[in-house]
Amino acid sequence: MSYIIGIDLGGTKIATILSDMQGNIIKRVEEATNAHEGQDAVIERIKETVYKVLDPGKDIVGIGIGSPGPLDLENGVVLKTPNLKWDNVPIRDILEEEFGITTYLENDANAAAAGEYRFGAGKGARNLIYITVSTGIGSGIIIEGKVYRGAHGIAGELGHTIIDPNGPICGCGQHGCLEAFASGTGLARRAILELQLGVESIIRELVEGDLQKVTARTLEDAALKGDEFARNMWESTGDYLGIGMTNVINFLDPEMIIIGGGVSKAGELLFEPMRRSIKKRAIESAASKVKIVPAALGKDVGTLGAISVVIEALEAK
Ligand SMILES: [Zn+2]
Repeated sequence: MSYIIGIDLGGTKIATILSDMQGNIIKRVEEATNAHEGQDAVIERIKETVYKVLDPGKDIVGIGIGSPGPLDLENGVVLKTPNLKWDNVPIRDILEEEFGITTYLENDANAAAAGEYRFGAGKGARNLIYITVSTGIGSGIIIEGKVYRGAHGIAGELGHTIIDPNGPICGCGQHGCLEAFASGTGLARRAILELQLGVESIIRELVEGDLQKVTARTLEDAALKGDEFARNMWESTGDYLGIGMTNVINFLDPEMIIIGGGVSKAGELLFEPMRRSIKKRAIESAASKVKIVPAALGKDVGTLGAISVVIEALEAK
């Protein structure tokens, strides 16, 4: 029997699993990334997590690692990555040298898409988009069962598609990216601006007057307590996401769109206006058939995604 090691490298934690080819997790370890300690310390920590799940008695056919981008996929290098504070780390070769096991590097959103496709909400679909809505917005594209990376590994940067050139400034330097409106950070920032202008809301009490503490979570709490301003903020966020997804639907006509990430846990507060926005805007014959579903893999999406990347590579051989 063959086994795979999957690593989910994130800005806050490193999760590593040993799994069989069916995605059954045999061992799982998790460590804080502590990126502030520098790249060498984090690389050592990644190796330690692999040693902890490594079972010398088992036939391990590959290691997969999902990492925040930008990456040089061809050469297995993590380029300048702000949330890891890494600078050109050849992580694929480092792990191959350490463990003598073929290693595959993939960006985290692509890996998550591959994981949901193979083991999660996308089982049975051949063409799907996975969208993660958290501090940013990322996405992965699966076409005919395979991750679509584009000519330069950039495909899937849905968060930086522009939905209003006069919109708020985005972390990438452009104005009006989907992420600037509808990510957790974008939602909080839009809410803070209106609260500063004096809109009525219980949010001020929830953050004890400190508006800088407002997050997507605060807006969720307030909306569930019936706060009208907070409900309107979720309404507009769902609408903006619906605009982003309408563009995806009209352009790619996927079978399914899977929504994951921390902000998606707001559930119907987000999904209801999002579905309405798509219904109102997208080409009807595609919009009426596309399935829009929440992600299914939860906290294992990153590690099972990394496993899926290895399986896809092995299948292609
Ligand atoms: Zn942007």
